[in-house]
Amino acid sequence: MERTRCFLIGYPVSHSLSPVMFGAAFRALGLDWTYQALPVAPGETGELLAQLAGRGAVGVNVTMPLKREVVAHCRYLTPRVEAVGAANTLTFREDGWEADNTDWPGLRLAITEAVGAGALPRGGRPGVVFGAGGAAAAAAFCLAEMGLPVAIVNRDAVRGRELAARAGGEYVPWGDGALPALVGQASVVVNATPLGMGKGPGDCPLPPGAVPAPDAVACELVYHPPETEFLRRARKAGARVVSGLSVLLWQAVPTFQRWTGRPAPVEAMREALFASVEAGQPKKRGAEDCGT
Ligand code: NAP
Repeated sequence: MERTRCFLIGYPVSHSLSPVMFGAAFRALGLDWTYQALPVAPGETGELLAQLAGRGAVGVNVTMPLKREVVAHCRYLTPRVEAVGAANTLTFREDGWEADNTDWPGLRLAITEAVGAGALPRGGRPGVVFGAGGAAAAAAFCLAEMGLPVAIVNRDAVRGRELAARAGGEYVPWGDGALPALVGQASVVVNATPLGMGKGPGDCPLPPGAVPAPDAVACELVYHPPETEFLRRARKAGARVVSGLSVLLWQAVPTFQRWTGRPAPVEAMREALFASVEAGQPKKRGAEDCGT
């Protein structure tokens, strides 16, 4: 069976920007492939994946709230999925689905692009991650892989401690008095919470007085709106910034390569993504970004 069909599963998915990006990528390479978003409720994943395999699917992107649940229905897990415990990219192999997590390499690619010919500040300076969910786990392992000591800042201490232990980092309580100094020392600061989707100046994980250093990289995962209070504060401090849209673009790049075996046409994907946002997409949102 020729496998040329790709899907996105999650709930909601109607506002996802992934169909635009993948559609542009297929066109740029002259591939007669399709990418379709399917709303899927929790609990339905196993049966659906079996059906999609029989319908010529080559790949499935997975978004909230299925990123953890889907792992149990895959025959093969990459080491990244084993570490993070969540998957966003499934690829059909001869006898079953393989789960991968491209939020991790996607963040690394986005940071690499932001740093350009420069370098990340080192000298033991930490990578600080706000949040302890699936995206934060991918960020924590990414920063650890880049050789940074990792600090996890989270409201829920149990989740925060658990992720810090898994990623070999330390847990810092939300609102801790040491946060302004920690953020000021950091090499990389990541917002992996949904804070920023609202409009208020307080809709930002950085506590008052905490700003990244001018030589640091500040990474936002929220992409709706494209410009958040976290990004504004980091820019004002002179830091290099990675937007949520940039992370969204770069997590799709290894996915495209996995599915097609060809290098992703990054500029065509970027152009389509930003044109879609400028044209006012996504128009209708659920309560949160969907993260793919
Ligand atoms: P998740 O698993 O639900 O985790 C959310 C995390 O945010 C939890 O640690 C939670 O803390 C924290 N949090 C939620 N509301 C908060 C608040 N009001 N104040 C402080 N902390 C709060 O979600 P996720 O999948 O990791 O996604 C996190 C964000 O990243 C979402 O906005 C998602 O859209 C975005 N994302 C973007 C991309 C991209 O490509 N740009 C990719 C993946 C995800 P507690 O543990 O204390 O509840």
